[in-house]
Parts: sequence; structure tokens; C-alpha cells
Amino acid sequence: MADFRFDVAIIGTGTSAYQAAHPLARAGKRVAVIDERPYGGTCAMRGCQPKKFLVAAAEAVWAARHLEGIGVAGSPRLDWEALQRSKDAFVDAVPARTEKGFREAGMETFHGHARFVGPDVLAVGGDRIRAETIVVATGARPRPLGTPGEEHLTTSDGFLDLPAMPDRVLFVGGGYISMEFAFVARAAGAEVTVLQKAARVLTPFEPEIVDVLVEAAEDAGIRIVTGACVDRVERTGDRLVVGCEEEPDRRWEADLVVHGAGRVPNLAGLDLEVGEVEASPRGIVVDDHLRSPTNRRVYAIGDAAATPYQLATTGDLEGAIAARNILEGDRHVPDVFVLPTAVFTHPPLASVGLTEARAREAGHDVRVNRGRMRTWPSSRRIGQTHGAFVVILENGTDRILGAHLLGHGMDEAVNVLALAMRQGVTAEELRGGLWSYPTYVSDLKYMLG
Ligand SMILES: Cc1cc2nc3c(=O)[nH]c(=O)nc-3n(C[C@H](O)[C@H](O)[C@H](O)COP(=O)(O)OP(=O)(O)OC[C@H]3O[C@@H](n4cnc5c(N)ncnc54)[C@H](O)[C@@H]3O)c2cc1C
Repeated sequence: MADFRFDVAIIGTGTSAYQAAHPLARAGKRVAVIDERPYGGTCAMRGCQPKKFLVAAAEAVWAARHLEGIGVAGSPRLDWEALQRSKDAFVDAVPARTEKGFREAGMETFHGHARFVGPDVLAVGGDRIRAETIVVATGARPRPLGTPGEEHLTTSDGFLDLPAMPDRVLFVGGGYISMEFAFVARAAGAEVTVLQKAARVLTPFEPEIVDVLVEAAEDAGIRIVTGACVDRVERTGDRLVVGCEEEPDRRWEADLVVHGAGRVPNLAGLDLEVGEVEASPRGIVVDDHLRSPTNRRVYAIGDAAATPYQLATTGDLEGAIAARNILEGDRHVPDVFVLPTAVFTHPPLASVGLTEARAREAGHDVRVNRGRMRTWPSSRRIGQTHGAFVVILENGTDRILGAHLLGHGMDEAVNVLALAMRQGVTAEELRGGLWSYPTYVSDLKYMLG
């Protein structure tokens, strides 16, 4: 048992913690970082990065299939074992590299579960860590569903590490993780079903574009069931059966059922009351500066904070903002108005800014450019049948208020629009620029007219 004193103690070593810790250490603060799992957090170890390994290989398979008969002969298949090895080689190197980075920057690293034992003191195993400032960056975990048989569900962690792809895979929940994994599982040859309670999958996204993505999924052989009621999961021999008491005739069978029904802040065992830190089901309550109103020594960032998004992008921003506020006084507020996001399906769906409905609700005088890209050369040469766009422009100012894009390359192209929106570049200015041609990004010109 030892007592330590630091300027800042950070619980978590994921992406938001990383973005907070390094600037603080560079500024000369004595920083401790603590994690109960191998260092690196969700994005690098169990989220964005390993997912993108699987998505990249699946994408190649889908791309080749779409080119069959128009330039490519023979259909490639996913080599799941090789893919897992390649992904694991990346993931396995993360903890040592991350910890080394912290230590080389002069930080002290701790391993174990952290909990508050006072407003400015944490316990980690037998150690006591007292800090001027404590940053909670503990991430999120799958939402407990409270349904009988929940223990039969596989989490996203389990899906990412599957040793082999089962024949029938069912996803409970129609968010971005389910939709991305559905395309991966289907590319690997599984029969895939996505069960969504709401009337549409991917509810926060522009409905018109989601509908086209659903067509693409169905053409790929993915079954999407909306309005699905799930309140039990039963195991019968090797099979899992998912159903609902109210609708005994609607039951779905699978070999693997994946929990894709949302994630909640991971605040388990932090003893926040002892730390005088208020939390809601959405996470640790913070003010605009990411500081706890009930314990001014505490900041919360990333998925653990009750801020609007659970994304690596916003976690990074919050980490950087918290560091600046700790160093400079509470002067900085995260600005997420222009937040480009992507769903890595095939084709990918990308989005930035307001949906059409939100723009109208907010009272903007808008014109909306919408269309399908099927006949465009960029679609024809790759056999893409499900490209679509909705771009919302403001009359008078010609500002881009939102863009919702479905198509190959749009996950990258959306960043150009986000930059234009941030810098106040108008649609006409953007259209008048010079673009490397013909590229997917140069297609944006045709969406801005
Ligand atoms: C499958 C999947 C795919 C995703 N894909 C994307 C994507 O494409 N793009 C994107 O922007 N976002 C994506 N995300 C979301 C993104 O991964 C998270 O938003 C981000 O990683 C959150 O970072 P964080 O720093 O808040 O927490 P995390 O990275 O989750 O780190 C929290 C850390 O805290 C540790 N910890 C928790 N409690 C304690 C405790 N009491 N004591 C000690 N340590 C503790 C944990 O072990 C963990 O290492 C994805 C998430 C998942 C699950």
C-alpha cells in the first residue's frame, strides 16, 4: 500500500484520456493514468480500429462482387482466420505501445480498478492516489437489456474476436455497430438478420438515405426487421431463439445473437457518491467546460460523460478541451455542430450537420438537393447501384447546413464538406474550386448545385 500525489489523475487510457493526458504532461503537470484493462481503450482495442480491419476485408469482397460481370471474374471470399490474425497483430501491440508513450512523456501508470474514496482521492488496489484534479474517462459498456436469457448475447467485443463466422447471425438493435457488422458477417457467408425495435434502423440519420442503405443491405441478402419486439433469448441445444412474449408467432433462430442495442456510460464501481460526483443514466453530469458541478476537482470526458455523443471523434475533442480547461481555466467549450460521422456499411453512409427535418424545425430557409448516383460514371464503373445524397443548403447565405451521403468514398468525402462548413465556405465557392478528377470527392460538386 502506497500513497501518491499528482496534479492530475486520469481514470481510463482510451482515446479521450490519451488526448487529455499528453498535453497536461507536456505542460509540466504530474499526471497519473489508471486502467483496469490493458492500456488503449475501446477505439484501439475493441472498437473503431479492429472493426475497420474486418470492414476493410469485407469491403474488398463486396467491391469485387459488384464488379463481377463488368470487369472482374471470380468471387473472392473472406479468409476469416487470416483476417483475425492480421487484426490481432495490430490490437495486441496497442497496450505496450500506449503505456510506453505515457511513461516516456513522464506520466506514472497504474493498473487496476479505480474508485473514489474521497472527493480528491482514488483507491487503486492498495494504492491511494490524491490529485488536484481527477478526470473520469471510463468509457461505455453494452446497455444491460434486462431480458431473460441476456447472457446468451455476444457483445461487440465477442463479435470482433469470433474464431469462425457462424452460419446464422442475428443482431438485436439497428444502430451503426449492428449495421456495420451485418455487412461483415454477410461477406463472410453468414445468413444475417437485424432486429430493430423502431420503425427504421440508424434512427439519428437522414431517413431518406437510410432507406436506400436498407435497400442495399437487402440486396446483399441481409434481412432487416423493424418494429421487432425482443424480450427473451433462449438456448435450445446449439440454437438461440429470440422472441417476445406478446408476439409468440414472431421468433427468430440463430447460431449467434449479437447485442447491438446501445451502450451506456461505464461508471460501475467508481463510488461516485463518495467522490461527490453526480451522474445520470447518460453519464457523469458536466457543465459546458466538462467539469462536474458537484465536485469542481472532477472533469468527465468521452463516453463516460453525459455529453451528446459516444464517438472517438468527440471523445478526442473533449479530452483536448478538458486539458486546456485544466491548464488555462475553464474557457473552452467543445463545439460539435460540425461533426462528420460515417457508418462503414457497403456502401458507407456519411453524414454531417443537420438533417432536412432538423434544418426546417430550426427555422432555416432551405433548398435541398437530393438524388441517386446510380447512373453517374463513378457508380457505373464499380457496379454501385445504391448511391444517394441529400444536401441541405441555406437560401440567401448559400451555406451548407447538412449533407447525408451514401456511396463509395463518401466516408472520406464528407470531411471536405465538414471543413467547408467549419470555415464558412459557401456551396458556390466549393463548386467553383478545382478538384482532382474524376474522384469520388469531385462528385460533391454535382451535389451542391
Ligand atoms: C464496436 C465499436 C465500434 C466503434 N466504432 C467507432 C467508429 O468507427 N468511430 C468512432 O468515432 N467511434 C466508434 N466507436 C466508439 C468509440 O470507440 C468510443 O466512443 C471511444 O473509444 C470512447 O473512448 P473513451 O476514451 O471515452 O473510453 P474508452 O476508450 O472506452 O476507455 C475507457 C477505459 O477506462 C477503463 N476503465 C473503466 N472503468 C475503470 C475503472 N473504474 N478503473 C480503471 N479503469 C477503468 C476501461 O478499461 C477502458 O480502457 C465504436 C465503439 C464500438 C464498441
